Amino acid sequence: MHDAIENSFLASLEMTRFKGFLQDHHYISNQYIFVAQLINLILKWYCSKTKKQHLVSVYFERLENYCRKFYALNIKIFNWNSVNSVQKYNQKPDLKIWLKNPLSILAENAGGGILLEGARIIELIPSGKQPSSEYDSVFDASCHVILPGLINLHHHFYQTLTRVYPQALNKELFPWLKTLYPLWAGITPEALRMATRLALAELLLSGCTTASDQHYVFPAGLENAIDLQVEEAQNLGIRMVLCRGSMDRSEKDGGLPPDSVVQTCDEILADSERLIQQYHNPEEGAMTQIALAPCSPFSVSETVMRESAKLAEKNNVLLHTHLAETEDENSFCLETIGCRPLEYLEQVGWLNNRTWMAHGIHFTDEEIQKLAATKTGISHCPSSNMVLSSGVCRVMDLEKAGVPVGLGVDGSASNDSSNLMQEVRQAFLLQRLQHGSKVTHLDALRWATEGGANVLRRPELGRIAEGMQADLALFKLDELRFSGNGDPLAALVICGAHQADRVMVAGKWIVEDGQILGLDLEQLQAEHHREAKRLQEK
Ligand SMILES: [Zn+2]
Repeated sequence: MHDAIENSFLASLEMTRFKGFLQDHHYISNQYIFVAQLINLILKWYCSKTKKQHLVSVYFERLENYCRKFYALNIKIFNWNSVNSVQKYNQKPDLKIWLKNPLSILAENAGGGILLEGARIIELIPSGKQPSSEYDSVFDASCHVILPGLINLHHHFYQTLTRVYPQALNKELFPWLKTLYPLWAGITPEALRMATRLALAELLLSGCTTASDQHYVFPAGLENAIDLQVEEAQNLGIRMVLCRGSMDRSEKDGGLPPDSVVQTCDEILADSERLIQQYHNPEEGAMTQIALAPCSPFSVSETVMRESAKLAEKNNVLLHTHLAETEDENSFCLETIGCRPLEYLEQVGWLNNRTWMAHGIHFTDEEIQKLAATKTGISHCPSSNMVLSSGVCRVMDLEKAGVPVGLGVDGSASNDSSNLMQEVRQAFLLQRLQHGSKVTHLDALRWATEGGANVLRRPELGRIAEGMQADLALFKLDELRFSGNGDPLAALVICGAHQADRVMVAGKWIVEDGQILGLDLEQLQAEHHREAKRLQEK
């Protein structure tokens, strides 16, 4: 029976990596294999139930980890007598890998590469030197430019379903929103699942290792939107901050959205609390975090704003919203609330270092000082701002004043792309236009890495340095656009890199040779397109 399982089932799932792992580590015992097979049968059942066969190899990585844990447990419980393997396990709980001699790297004094152990970077190696400790394997990075994994601060994954929707083309923000809300009211759980998977795939392939998404439409039937997004992110292995969006102010209360996509204040707060308890991991290196994210002052009541801030403080989670995106918004706030948007945010208890806002374009000098004093963060979204003609964010002024600033691609329906590396170039170009040559490619790269980590209050992310998480994006310069370059790092931004060759999150390769491990992109694209058509033709 065991042979039959191994030959047909394990082999058919291409479990070579698993077998190789076992042989490499001398971990084989009948009892141990049996446990691993049992876990695998459960995974297979789960995959077939949820129609996610293509994600099997992602589960694989986890299976390896489970196996390690079972092994350690076995040593404790059964006192195994394989001294060699016990020593091997104890000495090397995590494998060490040397990313050797990169073509270029965004780090100080690391021309010889970096040494990783498990999920962390443990050593920066100067040019011509070797790691100071033993290592298990070497990855030749001589064709790669290594960046810290990019961090995306603002997105709406569901909007990939309404890209370049003809009736919304060539409109500014408010009319654009009013055209799309009725469509978004028809989003089903399956459509959101496909949109999430597709947007995450786009982000990963562009070098993003930490993504955030603000989901704020909750039509009937989509109450568990965030739960399924958590599941998708965990399946792919990307780090994620899920912003539980909300709207409770529909047209009948003077807001913009129709009744069909909003929820009551009680529903919003109860679900926010539930999601924090269920998914938020406050630890260093966390893969899943929750933030509370009322959509914007023109779609949310004052109660939701105030209570969300209190809930965030009580649970020590972050707050996110759209602010100061357009002049329309300023007029709307002045007419309906009697003050400018930032003043309103201050009144409802939002100005502090747990808050970050998308766009942040229309601020006065005094308002920038206020943001700096409270360490309130900003996500600059250059493509979206240009498409919707919203204005230019004062990124240089904000940074100079001490405001944490990072980058976001924003929803696909305004940017129509989820490519964060391209957004780095957009940010560079837009700020260059405003400030001339004092803006460099290094500024734009900083916003997308360290800047984003700062905004999300994640000091272990965004830089290549000892002790940091091993979140990395590796780019090759083998396309026509890079030919003849004299500075590989600057070439990424200035020549317009758009696809990473390899991406690592928490020490694990998620993208290899430009492919996401275990994800069939053709199938995903077909399924996503079908859901988008269904929604647009409703
Ligand atoms: Zn947005």
